[in-house]
Amino acid sequence: MTQTSTTDTSHAVEPVDDPPIADEALGRRPLADGLSARHGAALMRTLSTPLAVLERGEGAWVWDVDGNRYLDFLAGIAVNSLGHASPIVAEVAARQAATLVHVSNYFATPSQVALAERLIRLTGAGENGRVYFGNSGAEAMEAAFKLARRNFVDGRHRILALHNSFHGRTMGALALTGKPSLQDPFRPMVAGVDHIDSTIAALEESIDDSVAALVLEPIKGEAGVLPLPEGFLVRARELTRQHGALLIIDEIQTGVGRTGAWFAYQHDGVVPDAVAIAKGIAGGIPIGALVTIGAASDLLIRGDHGSTFGGNPFATAVADAVLEEIERAGLVQNAAVRGEQLREVIEGIGSPLITEVRGRGLMIGVGVADGRAAELADAALQHGLIINAPNSDSLRIVPPLMIGDDEIAAFAELFRQTLADLPESAS
Ligand SMILES: *Cc1c(COP(=O)(O)O)cnc(C)c1O
Repeated sequence: MTQTSTTDTSHAVEPVDDPPIADEALGRRPLADGLSARHGAALMRTLSTPLAVLERGEGAWVWDVDGNRYLDFLAGIAVNSLGHASPIVAEVAARQAATLVHVSNYFATPSQVALAERLIRLTGAGENGRVYFGNSGAEAMEAAFKLARRNFVDGRHRILALHNSFHGRTMGALALTGKPSLQDPFRPMVAGVDHIDSTIAALEESIDDSVAALVLEPIKGEAGVLPLPEGFLVRARELTRQHGALLIIDEIQTGVGRTGAWFAYQHDGVVPDAVAIAKGIAGGIPIGALVTIGAASDLLIRGDHGSTFGGNPFATAVADAVLEEIERAGLVQNAAVRGEQLREVIEGIGSPLITEVRGRGLMIGVGVADGRAAELADAALQHGLIINAPNSDSLRIVPPLMIGDDEIAAFAELFRQTLADLPESAS
């Protein structure tokens, strides 16, 4: 197996000024078929060196081109809800591809309407719920940004977002993202966003009638799976309502069952004004959605927004089938139960390197001592376990929602062995 860098390849952040370093120079075995060099030469330098060349998958497992098997507890970053090569995804995608793939939004299709109705039901959006379809998380957040701007009335001219949040890489989503290191190379940012600390005190201090929207993740995934403080969401709901601001919840990573509820805000019994959804909704087929609730559904009007591919019959048919399967197979409940089991496994190992286990359901963050998270994720990959280190102190574990006893046992074995084989001090 290849030696690795554990940088999240979809959001690799290091600026790369020079040509890619040869695998040999990094002490890595070159990827099969000279793919390291070809990848390095042909792909935009925004990507980091690939960890492996994967060929096929089944359930929670993937195989590389050399036949090595890995337990995939990253699941394409919380995307492959039903695991790899799901027969549901395969059958519905094949059938829809042979029937109708794309028609433009001049036309409706049955799956588009069915998916919108299902999302309205699952989010609890109720009678006046509405859905906008795009193709990614960032696009869902762009729609959310426009929604917030439509609430720039009556002296409201500010959007509040949280420090250390992640909302995507397009310019609007990036302006909402609370990470200066991602924003600095691309200033000026889209105006109107103020970032605050994730504390009730900071929120109470910052919010007033000039705020048009508060945007937040219930659990900050890219920041290392950091939950909001107890009571934050409930207070956020009270304060936004009081000041006429929208509460916009980014459930792109937490949503669609991952935390043991359809949406993480449901654990707190709050109902937001808008919910952004993407990642796990279609088992790997690109699609994003913004669901609006109540009066927020009247803010965006004809001509305000659109997307050529958004809501096409292919993506919506697969998403609707994936959600149907999550409901049928009880995978939301499974995420809650399996998450508890995983947490027990990790805590039970009792490694001094593990400082904390956080998160909810199958969205687990592991605090790692001495800044050794990347080294640990690296070592895990060499043992045949895919997890990732969003930063130097945290591991992120976001397996498919369908994992059972076998996958948990395999994880326990691989993770225990990884920790046992790790040198005493940082390499
Ligand atoms: C991944 C993610 C995004 C961005 O989604 P893309 O599909 O990569 O554009 C936004 N917000 C959160 C919370 C995410 O986890």
